[in-house]
Amino acid sequence: MGKTLGRLRRLPEIECFFPKTVQEALSLLKKYNGKARVFAGGTDLLPKMKRREVVPQYLIALNGIRDLNFIKYEKGKGLRIGAATTLSEILESPIIQKYFPILTETVAQMASMQVRNVGTMAGNLCNAVPSADTAPPLIVLGAQLKLVGIQKQRTVPIEGFFKGPDRTILGPMEIVSEIQISSPTGKGSGAYMKHTLRREMDLSIAGVAAYLFRDPKDNTCKDIKIAMGAVGPVPMRAKKAEAILRGKRLSDDLIESAAMIASEESKPIDDIRSSAEYRREMVKVLTKQAIKQCLEKA
Ligand SMILES: Cc1cc2nc3c(=O)[nH]c(=O)nc-3n(C[C@H](O)[C@H](O)[C@H](O)COP(=O)(O)OP(=O)(O)OC[C@H]3O[C@@H](n4cnc5c(N)ncnc54)[C@H](O)[C@@H]3O)c2cc1C
Repeated sequence: MGKTLGRLRRLPEIECFFPKTVQEALSLLKKYNGKARVFAGGTDLLPKMKRREVVPQYLIALNGIRDLNFIKYEKGKGLRIGAATTLSEILESPIIQKYFPILTETVAQMASMQVRNVGTMAGNLCNAVPSADTAPPLIVLGAQLKLVGIQKQRTVPIEGFFKGPDRTILGPMEIVSEIQISSPTGKGSGAYMKHTLRREMDLSIAGVAAYLFRDPKDNTCKDIKIAMGAVGPVPMRAKKAEAILRGKRLSDDLIESAAMIASEESKPIDDIRSSAEYRREMVKVLTKQAIKQCLEKA
């Protein structure tokens, strides 16, 4: 079995900065080289600090930076979500409900209203736990992340962002400034299915997202992406399962085979929330459910 959670302890006094611009935040990161940590909602970082898993000497709040708080959509171009935008703002966004309902459905399954009111999608990704709920849907949407540092900025596909549990490609002086999703070419439908031990307020034991482009004439799969969370060191695509669906008529048997293959592709571990074997079974179930939901919505 994996590690158990450590005891929560009172935090020591710590200096916290509230910059008003991204440049100011980056300058603080540089000034306190290695000793400072950025945060947005703090819903992941503060419990980690209370368990002494991380012990920064300085904190830099990103949630007061207005340039990081936005949801913008341009037809033909796509969606941009600023890193300080809260999960509640994402949940309530009519733009996201209309053009990317898979994200609305995902966020609705996360945490509680209180946590969503301060927690962010960027924080969920940067925390880099394999169970991060927003990762699989963003992967199937082909999202990109804009990373900014003092000297340069870069845009990277979300799939390459995660390096392992708690590890990303972010440099020590870089932050995520926004999440970008291009407008889909054609009409697709998506779904995210998550399995938890408790009904609410719980992290995923396994999560599967699918995004399907279907030919309505003969019910063939023109294209599909499937991504899995909490069943490997990083959120990951089920590429072999996708491959057997592409170009084929979407029968129950074919969906069953794809779900089996996705389960074989997953790389779960035993930990305090579940055994690897149970997780593999759940990938099968959730993959089937996700594809069938995409079909119902198509
Ligand atoms: C009761 C409870 C229930 C929860 N339920 C769920 C759930 O159902 N599903 C789920 O996936 N998660 C859940 N979480 C975890 C957490 O709420 C989410 O991961 C949330 O989205 C984190 O966002 P945040 O802004 O609070 O991150 P923070 O805690 O502020 O930051 C998390 C990490 O990311 C870094 N970071 C934050 N923003 C940036 C940035 N812009 N650039 C670079 N680094 C950055 C921080 O340094 C830190 O290491 C839950 C947490 C709690 C306390």
